[in-house]
Amino acid sequence: MKQKIIIANWKMNGNQRFCHDFMKQLCGEWPRAGATYEITICPPFPYLPVVASYVNRSGLSLGAQNCAEQISGAFTGDVSAQMLRDMSCKYVLIGHSERRQHHDELNHVLANKLLIAQQSHLIPVLCVGEGSSERNNGSHLYTVSQQLLACLPQQVDQEKLAIAYEPIWAIGSGRVANLPEIAEMHECINQVLNTRFGSSVRIPILYGGSVNPQNARDIINLKEVGGVLVGGASLKINDFLQIISV
Ligand code: PEP
Repeated sequence: MKQKIIIANWKMNGNQRFCHDFMKQLCGEWPRAGATYEITICPPFPYLPVVASYVNRSGLSLGAQNCAEQISGAFTGDVSAQMLRDMSCKYVLIGHSERRQHHDELNHVLANKLLIAQQSHLIPVLCVGEGSSERNNGSHLYTVSQQLLACLPQQVDQEKLAIAYEPIWAIGSGRVANLPEIAEMHECINQVLNTRFGSSVRIPILYGGSVNPQNARDIINLKEVGGVLVGGASLKINDFLQIISV
């Protein structure tokens, strides 16, 4: 079985001092003998080099929160996938709901980003998830399946891909999806991927949305779950250390 993945998404938080303090404490505890998780830290762009200086010697991985849709050129303010790779990133989040919501990132744009990321030797973590209205009216499985299909271009390399199921209503809300809801959606995503790529496919499917030290163990232990994407609780070193200890 592939190692389960725990990703810290720091979003637009922190400063140099925070990065050093957090990473020193984390590296004091990692790697651990018998550790079964791959731990990835996704800091804001300016702090990638600071975090990189720690992950490279500690068996941790580095990720970014977004990348440009283009390879290079006159795109002021954007950061390319190749630059992220150059800075030692292994993963990049694609289509986080906050990018979809605040930056109008549509599925076809995300499909382009996903391909560019793979061409740049990054592993894209494609984020999908339904809103509360779709959950309440029962169209959540359909919504997420459609998102997934629309964001996965024909040429995608299934060996270099991860999916994160993040129900929008669970992100930053303290309202985590319950275990049957998570298992149902992960099973649905798995079926969509199997239909798309064939049944031998083993693409990790992470859960994200109000993961904390109290609920992490039960979620990670679900057989359908390939890991967790952690926002708020990844900014508190003690909480994060507990999560990676489960
Ligand atoms: C996220 O933003 O990816 C996330 C999972 O946030 P939180 O853990 O704070 O819900």
